[in-house]
Amino acid sequence: MDLNLDRDVRAAAFSWLDEQIKLHGDVLDGGLLRFGFDFKGHRMPLAVQQGTHKPKILDAALTLRTSFDSPYSDHFDGEESFIYRYRGTNPQDWDNRAARIAHEHQLPLIYMHAVAKNPPRYVVVRPVYIVADDPVDLAFRLQAIPAELGSLTGSLGGASLTGSDTLTRRYGTRLARTRLHQASFREKVLAAYRTQCAMCRLKHPKLLDAAHITPDSDELGEPIVCNGMSLCRIHHGAFDVHYLSVEPDTYRIRVRAALMEERDGPMLKHGLQELDGIKLQLPRKLELKPDPERLRAHWSEFSESA
Ligand SMILES: [Zn+2]
Repeated sequence: MDLNLDRDVRAAAFSWLDEQIKLHGDVLDGGLLRFGFDFKGHRMPLAVQQGTHKPKILDAALTLRTSFDSPYSDHFDGEESFIYRYRGTNPQDWDNRAARIAHEHQLPLIYMHAVAKNPPRYVVVRPVYIVADDPVDLAFRLQAIPAELGSLTGSLGGASLTGSDTLTRRYGTRLARTRLHQASFREKVLAAYRTQCAMCRLKHPKLLDAAHITPDSDELGEPIVCNGMSLCRIHHGAFDVHYLSVEPDTYRIRVRAALMEERDGPMLKHGLQELDGIKLQLPRKLELKPDPERLRAHWSEFSESA
């Protein structure tokens, strides 16, 4: 196996991904990843079919991709590692062999975790390393290191990432896991609200957040759509500091009384005061609407602080 060629292709893939994430943010379109990057005049897709991808000119796998529909337990193994299931049940199939070669040489891989289906979108975690191969369970176990460290230490060859780097890998894996959860929550919430602010209908995704109703610092602040609302930056901030709230049973917005009496510029007038009494833009499906019980907790704090 040509390790120099392998290293060059991986380095080109990683730097292309860095650029795309800078341009498009943390979640990338499936189409972009399928199109891929340029390597010495040749187009190199990062993903072709579901699962493992190995460029023709390499012996080892380059990317591992999950599908949107596979169960949660397929992806996480406690806090310490990701699980990547074999494709099919034969450990000797080409894709499982390609992943095994990456394991044997401790080559850095790209892990793509689906967070949306139509169109497909992925959180990209890189670099990840296969740390265990379990032919009985038909699974590989992966660990991540933070992308910044990957390029800072020039450790794309993986050789420097043994022994004392266990902690770095654990940290990187936990970080990646949090990123996956956050990105997945955001995708689901924004989709449920048709990518608009539930309060002012602003439709620019770059200005939209998936706001938690029960804060995620709270034990009950699960990343589920009925604990979220798609809100623009200003309304997310106003909701978090209880400048406004939502009546739990009518879904009407109420603005703090003291704020209603202020006189100021257009943001106060149109952006906040005029929302008072307006109904939220809600998801169509009942189970995706904000949970009235969660809103009640926010509402009671709002009423006390008003
Ligand atoms: Zn808004």
